[in-house]
Amino acid sequence: MILEPIHCPNCDGIEVIKHGTTADGKQRYFCQSSECSRRTFILQYTYAGYSPEVKQQISNMAINGSDIPNP
Ligand SMILES: [Zn+2]
Repeated sequence: MILEPIHCPNCDGIEVIKHGTTADGKQRYFCQSSECSRRTFILQYTYAGYSPEVKQQISNMAINGSDIPNP
């Protein structure tokens, strides 16, 4: 089984280690690159593709789109 390396979203480096979890239980990662300015990040945002806010906007648009009255 080959695990895909985790890329740092800031510097795209792969020297990334797990770094505990956030208060709401999300996996936190730590970029070990000394040139990286951000260092810690949470990967689940990119996994999800969209943030809850964007999902809400999309569903709102879908509702509005089907709400056009037929003349
Ligand atoms: Zn980095």
